[in-house]
Amino acid sequence: MRGIVMAAPGDVRVEEREDPKILKPTDAIIRLTATCICGSDLWPYRGVERVNHTPMGHEYVGIVEEIGDEVTTLKVGDFVVGSFVISDNTCEICQSGYQSRCVHGEFVSQTIGTQAEKARIPYADGALVATPAHPDPELIPSLLAASDVLGTGWFAAVAAEAGPASNPHPDFAPRMRPVDYAARPLPSRSFDGAHSAGSLGVAVRRGARGGGGPGASGGSSGGGLR
Ligand SMILES: [Zn+2]
Repeated sequence: MRGIVMAAPGDVRVEEREDPKILKPTDAIIRLTATCICGSDLWPYRGVERVNHTPMGHEYVGIVEEIGDEVTTLKVGDFVVGSFVISDNTCEICQSGYQSRCVHGEFVSQTIGTQAEKARIPYADGALVATPAHPDPELIPSLLAASDVLGTGWFAAVAAEAGPASNPHPDFAPRMRPVDYAARPLPSRSFDGAHSAGSLGVAVRRGARGGGGPGASGGSSGGGLR
């Protein structure tokens, strides 16, 4: 298959990469319908982050082509939105609401790379969310946004305790008007770049399946703050 590889800063190539295969019973193989270039892809491009023939891409939607024997929430042919961080969504850390720090976590951009024709997604039940039906083509760009920035934004808002009637978090109160603080990083900590938040799965499941609010089972997303 063809896939994007960043050989070195400023050196982006389309290369022939090995077709992904099911390696573990919790894997799924997806054919990418659409994928993004994220702002954080530009860090290695500019030489800010190390890069050495790295498969690129972590915002993605696609069609399930194959599933491992232990995948239970997906079937072949499903349209799925994938999270930019792999998580099993079952471990203690995931259940506490920090899916991006799952014991099985890995960043899709550094190991898998979804700027490609296909991808193997580990822990597919945790990392992929099937849409109720195949979306209209014009909806696909919005679903791509759900792959990373929705989870990131969700966690930022939850961490900031943002809301129409909420009181400012004590960390924010001295320096920020309430109207500002949903859009700002926490003052005493820095975001892990664009990779601040956790689980697309939580955010999307809440929307698509009517799950609970922050703190409900599955928890608020997050874990990228440090
Ligand atoms: Zn986990």
